[in-house]
Amino acid sequence: MEKKLLLCKDNTIRIEIEKCVEILNKICKNVVFKSLPQNVDIGKGDDDLISNSKRESNLLFSKVKNAGYDKLVYLTTRRYKNNYYYDDEDAESVVTIVSFSNWDVYTNLPRENGLFYFITAILLEGFYDSEDLKMHYKRTGCVFDYLDDKSDIDYGMREGHICDDHQKGLTEAINKNYGLKNIYEDTQKLLNFLRNNSKWNRNVLSGGDTEELSTFDERLFIENVAKIYEKSGVVAKPNELIYNYIVDVYLEGKTKTVVECKFNLQAGMIAVSEFAKKVEILKRKGLIDDGEIVSYIGFTDEEKTIAETHKIRLLTFDELKKQYLEVEATVLGFKTVIEYRAKKPKSPDIFVIIPFIKSYDDVYEGIQKVAEELDLACEKADEKEFEGNVMDRVYQMIINAKIVIAVLTPLLEKCDKKLRVMCHNPNVYFELGYALAIKKQVIMLTNDIESSPFDVQQYKKIPYESVTEMKPKLREMLETIIREGYKKSRNQQESASY
Ligand SMILES: [Zn+2]
Repeated sequence: MEKKLLLCKDNTIRIEIEKCVEILNKICKNVVFKSLPQNVDIGKGDDDLISNSKRESNLLFSKVKNAGYDKLVYLTTRRYKNNYYYDDEDAESVVTIVSFSNWDVYTNLPRENGLFYFITAILLEGFYDSEDLKMHYKRTGCVFDYLDDKSDIDYGMREGHICDDHQKGLTEAINKNYGLKNIYEDTQKLLNFLRNNSKWNRNVLSGGDTEELSTFDERLFIENVAKIYEKSGVVAKPNELIYNYIVDVYLEGKTKTVVECKFNLQAGMIAVSEFAKKVEILKRKGLIDDGEIVSYIGFTDEEKTIAETHKIRLLTFDELKKQYLEVEATVLGFKTVIEYRAKKPKSPDIFVIIPFIKSYDDVYEGIQKVAEELDLACEKADEKEFEGNVMDRVYQMIINAKIVIAVLTPLLEKCDKKLRVMCHNPNVYFELGYALAIKKQVIMLTNDIESSPFDVQQYKKIPYESVTEMKPKLREMLETIIREGYKKSRNQQESASY
């Protein structure tokens, strides 16, 4: 099932409707959006009231009658008599007039975000027969909030989700009409996208990654953070309303703490200081004692500095897990995070330290072959183009790898005189030294065992005369390592600060 929506506006409203359409089409696979390039004016001039929405709907409908759209959404700043955002007097109506009257009074989020909210709500309302749809008459953050108090729109855009009751109704509707499932999936993406932008005061057009922002469900992350805190014996309430703010997690134990969760993106300095402000206000009101931020991907130095100034505690998700679960457990049901991990580019299992010269190409190919047979990814430093400091990148690759293989080059005095310069390679020893220093699992390959430049007795090494001879030996050693489990290198966090 596919739905076609036409968006148009009158000349009273400032909204980037064409850019919205572009993003909406990027996110949605089963709803197609189009916009009318020219403004459509159905107002009466001096009267800014939508006095008879049925008449005006019909007027609009007549303009697009045969264009084959399922819905026309018309945007204006003119006001409804009842001051609603939209008012579908006739539920079968193809036309919905959305009023952004006094928008700035109710929220500091852009109208574009509002458009995403209303489109999602309108699409989902279409799943219900009009008499079956019961709206919330108080603020819940569910897209089916009645928005009787228009300022609730701000909460709705930041929190926008579907409550369990309405979720049940939607599931029933999908079971009756399976074609709705695709539309439903699009609305989920729209809600994620809207929330992940609005939460950080970003315009939906601000250019974030549509794929990432529409698939991450931060709520799941928040719920899991709350679950972990509960293990420490406090009461942890996700998405709690404290005073005027929705806080991600509210901890009630000996002390009261609000926790902000960051999952998909770096929040940036502004978000950290805004959270700090929130904490300050709640503290002054005597409602809480502390504020904490839990981040899935860590913090920048700038964020750390700001947090320190405001006495906000920062924790990565891993630290949180270690603190309260003691083991590095995978939280059940934490599907999104696991998928996210799987999506991240895989770092190679093996990093090969080898001179960048032709005469070593066959050795590298031999190593690659063995790695392939064991289904291990292997990489050396010059294979990818990289920007910035080359050594930084090499250090990072060593840190990320599970095993480091170093191909030792002969000592200077042992080198063939003609080949001397090319043959001896101090870089290899430099990188090897780093790998050993952080206690990586290292395998050394040498075709000149006597000239090992330092005492490497204690390390695993494979002497070889030819590549053909080296391969089975390397394979055997790798198999042993895999069987016995990879050695943990020294605290990776610590070495990552290079
Ligand atoms: Zn609801």
